[in-house]
Amino acid sequence: MATEIAPGIHRLATDYPHVCGLPLWLHVIDAGSELVLLDAGIASTPESSTAPELAALGLGLSDLTLVVNSHAHPDHMGGNAVLKKHSGARFAAPALEAGWLEDNERLVTELWGSDPDAMDLSEDERAELFGMLDERVRIDVLLRDGDRLPGERPLQVITTSGHSPGHIAVLDETSRTLFTFDDVQGRGRPYLDSDLWLAPLYTDVTRYSAGLARLLELDFDVLVPSHGDAIDGTAGRKLIEESLEWVSTVDTLTARLLRSRGSLTVRDLADAIGTELGTYGGINLQTVRMARAHLEHLARTGTAETRWHRRG
Ligand SMILES: [Zn+2]
Repeated sequence: MATEIAPGIHRLATDYPHVCGLPLWLHVIDAGSELVLLDAGIASTPESSTAPELAALGLGLSDLTLVVNSHAHPDHMGGNAVLKKHSGARFAAPALEAGWLEDNERLVTELWGSDPDAMDLSEDERAELFGMLDERVRIDVLLRDGDRLPGERPLQVITTSGHSPGHIAVLDETSRTLFTFDDVQGRGRPYLDSDLWLAPLYTDVTRYSAGLARLLELDFDVLVPSHGDAIDGTAGRKLIEESLEWVSTVDTLTARLLRSRGSLTVRDLADAIGTELGTYGGINLQTVRMARAHLEHLARTGTAETRWHRRG
């Protein structure tokens, strides 16, 4: 049920827990001349969840004037096409991710297919992804670090990067509410319907850490993640610290395995992250991208070298 988390800001429930076994919250903000929806959910979300949630507030999808995608992952932008069908809203998203936001094939190839030696999508998994993504929509407003969202309410855009190349956070300066979407991940989070945890996901160690450090410096009283409950400033800063500690933990594991084995593939490291550091289910998108990010990080800092090798 729609809940007011600060004056003029309502949290909206979604169908995502039933589809993917994780909480996912969207937020609608009254910004004066703009009615802003933060994130779009997956393709099925607007009609199944957002419309009834808005109706409980006396609003409809057609009242939305601006949809903001925090980053180009399916659960944050898959609903764009349906939202466009039902409203005259403009779409705003990180300039750095416009290519992924406007081209499903490119997104799936570059994100899920980045390390074909380590992980391959099955036809079923591909079909499931495309089902959550729907048709793409052109992005009208390209967001960059330091921008303000349109409307009278001061909503500041902060590029955090890390979780995805152009990931943004949004700070409502009026209520000091910081929307961090997927960027503050701690040690990951438990699935609602199994003993497994979803591991953190980031594609660049330095950028992820730098983005988290930037968030620590902001003036906020409430931290709002997409896949969990809103927490107060103290708990929010602690979660950011834990997210930074996780990066160190994976860095230490990577260096230790590299020392003991001499060489390491993305797949080996992903498997170790996904089993030794928690019940993350071994090899998956999250652990593969982290493994690659940490190996690249060690290579850049001179601790490891990248090598070509002959197959077979
Ligand atoms: Zn994400």
